[in-house]
Amino acid sequence: MLAEYAGVSEENLLVGNGSDELIYYLTLAVGEFYMPVFIPVPTFPMYEISASLFGRPLVSVELDEHFDLPLEESLKKVEEEKPVLAFFAYPNNPTGNLFTRYKIERLREEGLFCVVDEAYYEYSGESFKDEALGRTDTVVLRTLSKIGMASLRVGYMIAHEAVVKEIKKAKLPFNVSGPSQVLARVLLTEGRAFLEEKVKEVVAERERLFDELSKMPLVEVFPSRANFLLFRTPFPARELQQELLKRGVLVRNVSYLPKLSRCLRVSVGKPEENDAFLNALDESLKALSERY
Ligand SMILES: *Cc1c(COP(=O)(O)O)cnc(C)c1O
Repeated sequence: MLAEYAGVSEENLLVGNGSDELIYYLTLAVGEFYMPVFIPVPTFPMYEISASLFGRPLVSVELDEHFDLPLEESLKKVEEEKPVLAFFAYPNNPTGNLFTRYKIERLREEGLFCVVDEAYYEYSGESFKDEALGRTDTVVLRTLSKIGMASLRVGYMIAHEAVVKEIKKAKLPFNVSGPSQVLARVLLTEGRAFLEEKVKEVVAERERLFDELSKMPLVEVFPSRANFLLFRTPFPARELQQELLKRGVLVRNVSYLPKLSRCLRVSVGKPEENDAFLNALDESLKALSERY
């Protein structure tokens, strides 16, 4: 059922208890523990958490001003520190953008085993799937978590048969529960049309929200291919978060991350939720403007 949904054969799939579990297995299975793991920052925290669980050194590079991979610096670090495994969230979380495809491919030429984490694939439509099927140095991770089923804990890896076979050796038996498998099946069969409708709505709303935020003079919003938007204001993110919360809207403060000072991340919701957010943001910015 997942194979059909992803458009691949069963032999090219490995299912995990969320893609987090697959990140853990990949960190365990690819290379020796003394061999470093390459990540751009800021990115999804699980890569770093997994690496430190196994005591693996990290090689990290800060994203450039467009939140893209800094290629020259990355190549230099790869040459110096010789990481063997790399994680690329594609689109990246929490910035929402897709890294330039060529940059990932160029880094791969240096011998990196590339994990392309497509948790938001449904919202981006861009993929490394064909490369994951045709090569043994690239795998794709996907999940049902970002299409409304996070508590099911169903993630999957798309990879060459030989890679699936190797990573499977690290896997615990029965890692995904029966009830989760049953519900995933229902979601992807009977729920499929509903799911696709929802994804379409979120993509349309993401674009609308982007346009509306772009019009607000105190807001700098960044283009996103995921189901959230990252934005920056002149005010301390914590205070803006509090002001929004007072008005019944919860957003994520990501301003503590490198490159993301004064940034917040908002999930795209239903049209009425997005309207409520826009109103609350407008009021909050006015309140903060009087204070600062
Ligand atoms: C949410 C997210 C995940 C986690 O997915 P699970 O399947 O819930 O473990 C993995 N990668 C990225 C980039 C995410 O944003």
